[in-house]
Amino acid sequence: MTSSPHFAIAIDGPAASGKSTLAHQLATRLGLVMVNSGAMYRAVTWQVLQQNIDPHDSAAVLNLLAALDIQCGDDGLSSTITINGHDPGDALRSEAVNANVSIIAAIPQVRDILVALQRDYLTRTNVVMEGRDIGSVVFPNTPYKIYVHADEHVRAARRSDMGEIDSVAQRDAADSKRATAPLMIASGATVLDNSHHSIEGSVTAALAILKQQGLPL
Ligand code: C5P
Repeated sequence: MTSSPHFAIAIDGPAASGKSTLAHQLATRLGLVMVNSGAMYRAVTWQVLQQNIDPHDSAAVLNLLAALDIQCGDDGLSSTITINGHDPGDALRSEAVNANVSIIAAIPQVRDILVALQRDYLTRTNVVMEGRDIGSVVFPNTPYKIYVHADEHVRAARRSDMGEIDSVAQRDAADSKRATAPLMIASGATVLDNSHHSIEGSVTAALAILKQQGLPL
């Protein structure tokens, strides 16, 4: 991690806090690749459900995972993922995946495998990576860390505006309480509350934070 010529900007925060939108905007403006780490946990969950495996059956999940071919790449702008040669596309945001992804993400061995794939991006490119544990676990040494916060009712409204059925509060509780790599404000991260920011306002605030953290802008 320390010897990589590349760097990571870590964007963490709860569900529907606006971190994907912010990460996309930052990546576009700074010429970096935006990596959606949640898509990796969602892709594994999608496969678990496709195979009718009980998400609570960790041994069965790990057996499946050992047989999966997960390919993470990028198209120059954003991360891409295929699983056994298939791009899961919109299936990653189904109600069933939303309801089960936190169960899968709490399995430590699943995290080990996906964290390795996340770190691997830095062997190839500079990234803005968004997730729950990017600043705390995946890239703890990066100086560029933002924790995005937004009020719970604002986040729930954003999800339903997207047409998704997603119990944001339940997912956040599970993600915050799990033993391994819980959602937290990483050491060195600056909190950005974007409850009342426009997208542009949020980007401006994030760029100011990154500049203060030493990113040459
Ligand atoms: O970011 P997104 O809402 O798509 O993430 C889906 C789920 O994946 C989260 O609720 C969490 O359980 C898991 N996740 C995680 N660590 C990450 C990214 C996502 O545990 N770095």
